[in-house]
Parts: sequence; C-alpha cells; structure tokens
Amino acid sequence: MGDLPAIPLLDLTRYDDALKADVARAVASVFETGRFVMGASVERFEEALAAAIGVRHAIGVSSGTDALLVALMALDVGPGDEVITSPFTFFASAGVVARLHARPVFVDIDPASFNIDPARLEDAVTSRTRAIQPVHLYGHPADMDGVAAVAAPRGIPVLEDACQAIGAAWKGRPLGALGTLAAFSFYPTKNLGAAGDAGAVTTDDAALAERIRELRIHGGVRQYHHERVGGNFRIDALQAAVLHAKLPRLAAWNERRRAIARRYGELLEKPAGEGRLVLPGEAPGARRVFHQYVVRVPDRDRVKERLAADGVGSAVFYPLPLHLQECFADLGYREGSFPEAEKAAREVLALPIFPELSDGEVERVAAALTRALR
Ligand SMILES: *Cc1c(COP(=O)(O)O)cnc(C)c1O
Repeated sequence: MGDLPAIPLLDLTRYDDALKADVARAVASVFETGRFVMGASVERFEEALAAAIGVRHAIGVSSGTDALLVALMALDVGPGDEVITSPFTFFASAGVVARLHARPVFVDIDPASFNIDPARLEDAVTSRTRAIQPVHLYGHPADMDGVAAVAAPRGIPVLEDACQAIGAAWKGRPLGALGTLAAFSFYPTKNLGAAGDAGAVTTDDAALAERIRELRIHGGVRQYHHERVGGNFRIDALQAAVLHAKLPRLAAWNERRRAIARRYGELLEKPAGEGRLVLPGEAPGARRVFHQYVVRVPDRDRVKERLAADGVGSAVFYPLPLHLQECFADLGYREGSFPEAEKAAREVLALPIFPELSDGEVERVAAALTRALR
C-alpha cells in the first residue's frame, strides 16, 4: 500500500470535537455534584436507555459480564441448574454460568447468522434448564421467535446477551426488549462505548428489576440490611454521564456502520460471487448493527497475514469455541461436538468497521482483501 497510513481494525481516538465537548461537559458535571457513585447521572442514563430500548427498566451495572451475572442471579440460577447458550461467543456468556456453579449447555449455531440454532434447541432442554441465553453475535439478532417457541411453552426465562447488539432489532422490536431480561456491555469497543467498563440490564419485569437493583448493591437497597447476597455491581456515575452524552448519537453511528457494510458488499461482490469468501447476511426480520463485519474465508490465517502486510487490521472473533476451552473440559464436550461453531472458528475474519472509518479506507480494505484472496 505504499506510503498510505495503516488502517486499524478499530480506532477509538477519532472523536469529533462536538462529541469531545459533550463528554467533557458530562464528566465535569459529575465532579461538580461530587456524586461519584449512584445519584442523578446514573438515573438519567438508566431512563434514557430504557426509553431507547423500549423497556420499563434499565439498571446500570459495572460491565456486560456483570450484567449477565446479576441477571442470572436474579433468576436464582445456582448449583445443579443448566443454562443453554451458544458455544461461539465471547467467553463471558458461559463464564458467568460456571461462576454460579451452574452448567453451561451449548447448542450449535446456525452458520448463516452465527447465532444459536433454534432447530437444535429443544433437544438441549432438560428439567434442570433454568434459562436460555441467546447471544446476538456481531450485532446480528438471534432468531428470537425460534427461541421463544421453545422457551415460552415451558416457562423458561430468556436472557438476551445483547452486549454486541445495542440498537439492533428483530421484527421491528429493539433487541433487549424481547427476552425476560437482557444484558448490554458498554466496553469501550462496543457500539456504545464508555470510557472504561460499564454495562446494563434491561427488563419489563418490575420484580426482577427490583431484585437486580438490590443485588448490585450487596443485596439490599436499605443500607446495611441485606435480604440476599449480592455484590458491588454498580455502574460508575462518570461512566453513566459519558454514556448519557453519547447515547443520542448511537442511531447515526449504527447507520454509518450499516452504510459501510453495504459498501463492503458492493466492493466484494466479485470475489464473493466466485466463491472465494462469504459475506455477512441479514436474516429476514433482522436489522443488524454490525458490531463486527465478519466474512468467512478459507485459509483464514494466511489471508489475515496478507492483510496485515498490506497495512489492514483484522481480527478473529473467536478462534476457539467455548466447548473446547480448557476450563470447560469437565463438561464432557469434545472436538466434533459442535461442527458449525468449530467451522466458524476456523473461517471467520473481522474487517475494520467503525463509524469514523472513511469511504477511502473502506475501498482500500476491500481492495487489499481481494488481493489477499488471490
Ligand atoms: C463484550 C461482551 C460481553 C462482556 O461484556 P464486558 O463489558 O466486556 O464485561 C459479554 N458477551 C458478549 C457477547 C460480549 O461481546
């Protein structure tokens, strides 16, 4: 690529001046009040988030991982219980289940969406199933009708792992409003990123919301009185203020991600038509938000190296499915247990997609990938 600057997978320094000013004002306002834990900035953000998702309750917490953990705690998941989830996701989706001494039960993915395949879900349900936890990977909705068809008649709660999918929708309804509960992450690289760790749980269920509000402050909203054992799962007031300042821009950022994805689709049409790569699709009824733009390529590691040599960043989310992780060896899964997840782990490659990426950079990425596929 000659002397052109490298194109990173993600660049979190490309803030425009208006956003910088809004975030600085939000941070300053927290310092002015001196309320660094809970308080008005947390309440304001929770109200705005609940309105954006279209749910009655949003509870800010310390991270996406803690959002999943506290949601499962609110559902009373514990020793001997099973939680069904995807083997092809970020570790936290299953790690939280194991931390509660419950058992993660994996179900293979639909190769088109990379999400849990509802056709295989029913076989995984047992009398010990306490929750089904679909993951909306890369910002593409899981098939929530398929999940509900198994969960609803059995009264099994559904916990959406929406950590990668804020702003996405399924049949016109925002993700995070479809399950019993949903978990969001505001890790800095997510579509709505904090200036550090933060997360949230959303729900329409008032009793669950109340329980989560207790659990995030050691199991009791009345100070020094504990109805149950919780933890410190609070969102920082500073993070809530930053997120509140950024939230109004989320829709436009997600639109820009979708526009970049459309452009990639045009630019990569030829190699895709020749069967040299598989482009990401959008299932009927899904409106995705491209947390990642993930293609499938044979000989993935070589393609990744060639892109790097051309100054183009890329990444593999995720190289080892969860059922093959060392820490889950005692679950009894093995190579071959989930062929679609294993195949995806060998083939996926994420290309740069973030709102501040320029049209010229998008073209250079597509050209570099086309060359790398030869
Ligand atoms: C990021 C992420 C999490 C965890 O969120 P953190 O805020 O990093 O704790 C959980 N699940 C998925 C699918 C994620 O992408």
